[in-house]
Amino acid sequence: MTTVTAILNGKGRSVITISPQRTLREAVDVLAERRVGALVVTGVDGAVLGILSERDVVRVLAGEGPRALDNTVSRVMTSRVKTCTPYDTLDDVMEMMTAGRFRHVPVMEDSRLSGIISIGDVVKHRLAEFENEHQALREYIATA
Ligand code: AMP
Repeated sequence: MTTVTAILNGKGRSVITISPQRTLREAVDVLAERRVGALVVTGVDGAVLGILSERDVVRVLAGEGPRALDNTVSRVMTSRVKTCTPYDTLDDVMEMMTAGRFRHVPVMEDSRLSGIISIGDVVKHRLAEFENEHQALREYIATA
């Protein structure tokens, strides 16, 4: 069973964060510059206060037009963030993403943010697993 720890060991534990007082305009810049789909919103003490994804930006832009970019991040973010631990399995995380219809899950260890799993990470890992299985089956057939 693949765990969240195994994924983080491969991709690293850095998370791109933003403070809740920043504007959506600033958040959009960070999303574009860092080439990510979501930012974890953290307070001065590093506590996770919310998550802001590109979907949230699209939603307010559609509703309010360009002036939506003057909103603070805190007004637009999702406050009830679903998180996982390093000990959860990849299946647990996939289930969480499917049930909640989101593509990002921050990882918490001892109440501290210690990574993030995106749906891209899940797909990448699954593909590698299929590839290994395929290879093992081919070798098995060839030597049978
Ligand atoms: P996403 O698919 O991750 O781009 O996000 C879709 C929606 O779910 C957006 O409104 C996000 O703010 C929200 N969202 C993303 N990740 C989470 C999460 N881990 N917990 C709760 N809501 C989330």
